[in-house]
Amino acid sequence: MTDFETVIFIDLDGTIMINPFERVVWPVVIGELVAQSGQSADAIYDMIAAENRARQDDDAGDPVLSMDWDDITATVAQRLGVRLTANVTDLVRTHAASHSSVMDHAPEVLRDLRAPGRALVVATKGLAKYQVPVLDALGLTSLFDAVLTPDTHGGLKKHRRFFGDWPQRARRALMVGDRYDDDVLYPGRHGFLLLWKPEALPPDLLPLDPLERARRYPYATDQPLPATAILASLRELPALVTRLEG
Ligand SMILES: [Mg+2]
Repeated sequence: MTDFETVIFIDLDGTIMINPFERVVWPVVIGELVAQSGQSADAIYDMIAAENRARQDDDAGDPVLSMDWDDITATVAQRLGVRLTANVTDLVRTHAASHSSVMDHAPEVLRDLRAPGRALVVATKGLAKYQVPVLDALGLTSLFDAVLTPDTHGGLKKHRRFFGDWPQRARRALMVGDRYDDDVLYPGRHGFLLLWKPEALPPDLLPLDPLERARRYPYATDQPLPATAILASLRELPALVTRLEG
């Protein structure tokens, strides 16, 4: 016996919401590092991205620290020989309401998806300290049964432990997200059904049904696993989930 018919894991950034990082956190943090170090903004942005990538790829490293932007930016500042006064956690808290937004009719879609026998669970690679203030500010928190972040079970989406016991509690697990690696490849390895909402869709796939899009999508060589379905809009999700349950 399982507790639920379906557990729907839903990614946050780029899937249902836009967080304050691009709009305010990076401009403030990188602006301060540029002023102090004399390096270009692009060079500093690249250093931050490279440090984040290296930490995620280090299997011996701490998955939580790999997504800790306060620790990452402090490390980059130290490498530049300067000391950062801006704090990412504070900036996110301050600007969560003013510089974030919901995407693609997400609140209506989430309300439509809620049904007896279904669990709606946030599955985000962002730490709770950056994501929960934004979810709260956007009024989305109460639409979910749980929020999974790397700090919940000490893992990233590539680690099965990230998802805790939710997959066993349901007959089927669905992952909805925008990134191929985190939302298709890794959850596919955990045996989930994969509802991918890529940033851009080839126009000839648009008129097709989401399952047919996934069959015809021109996957790159580093995209070895096909999605179950490809979404052009979140609004396709409620009918698609009902179909997959049928
Ligand atoms: Mg995302």
